[in-house]
Amino acid sequence: MLIVMKAQATDVEVTGVVNSLQERGLEAHLSRGKERVVIGAVGDVHSVTRSSILALEGVERIIPIAHPFKLVSRNFKNHDTVVDLGVVQVGGNAITVFAGPCAVEGRDVVLSTAAAVAKAGATGLRGGAFKPRTSPYSFQGLGSAGLKILAEARALTGLPVVTEAMTPQQVAEVADKADVIQLGARNMQNYDLLQEAGHARKPVLLKRGMSSTIDEWLLAAEYIVAAGNPNVILCERGIRTFSQRTRNTLDLSAIPLVKELSHLPIIVDPSHATGHWSLVGPMARAAIAAGADGLLVEVHADPATALCDGGQSLTPENFGHLMEDIELIARAQGRQVARLKPQPQSTDGLTAASATSPALQD
Ligand code: PEP
Ligand code: MN
Repeated sequence: MLIVMKAQATDVEVTGVVNSLQERGLEAHLSRGKERVVIGAVGDVHSVTRSSILALEGVERIIPIAHPFKLVSRNFKNHDTVVDLGVVQVGGNAITVFAGPCAVEGRDVVLSTAAAVAKAGATGLRGGAFKPRTSPYSFQGLGSAGLKILAEARALTGLPVVTEAMTPQQVAEVADKADVIQLGARNMQNYDLLQEAGHARKPVLLKRGMSSTIDEWLLAAEYIVAAGNPNVILCERGIRTFSQRTRNTLDLSAIPLVKELSHLPIIVDPSHATGHWSLVGPMARAAIAAGADGLLVEVHADPATALCDGGQSLTPENFGHLMEDIELIARAQGRQVARLKPQPQSTDGLTAASATSPALQD
């Protein structure tokens, strides 16, 4: 249930409604818009009658929620959520592009790929240290050692890092080292993990489960927001269909649909969506044209030698071409590709932000 307060409602009246909800065992989440406050009542709302809420001072109306998610819905918050990563934002008018290898395979390849994607205009670095692999015999990632390499790449390039946490136990370490905690497709409905990420003080990139409906995905995001973390970035990465020629089927309509239903930013991963590097550019362009707020793209300094997903990884050169295309499409839509905010230089040549980053403290 959403409670819309009158435009002239006072702070005392807003507090009165919040207290009243809490006395009935409900949680109250506030959304302060330009004109009025909306209060989201979360919990067992069935025990609460409409008339008892409408009787409270300052209440204008009640919107029953037709869909099961509340806090992530546009009814609750009508303006777009912009997730602030310090040096760059996700959402709003800019297009944010995270690029890098599928997995952190080693120091040299990650540093050279990071430098190349930064040069081509990426605004974030991706790379898995903890890897969810279909086969137990495939390369499983470098774990904690991989996080340190990512932190080094971040210090050298200034790119914020997104990397996956696969278990609730990994969330704190990933949150400490990285800028964005990625929750992968296979874990979209791992509710313990969602809740732990909801307690973290870093933004979360939530991938769509490979067989998940839009409602299931938004409910997974709801878990994170309800647990206290409002900074969720959704990532469409293709869903399972009967198609055998591609790894997954990119659900492009998810982009405008999610934008209708939710205020959260949505980016697209054209690499896992297609499984073939030659399809990555066209799908990335289509995603931006459809209104996506950014991309998560696999790029490898030498895809032929990649330990993981080389076939769907772009070379730095092809990634550079893609960035030029994205710039044109963004501009045609009145948007622009995000740029990293310049950071003041410290004496040893590192940016001040990276020099003071918790990622560098060990
Ligand atoms: C990834 O981006 O590293 C990944 C494993 O993707 P997904 O969870 O979408 O399969
Ligand atoms: Mn991959």
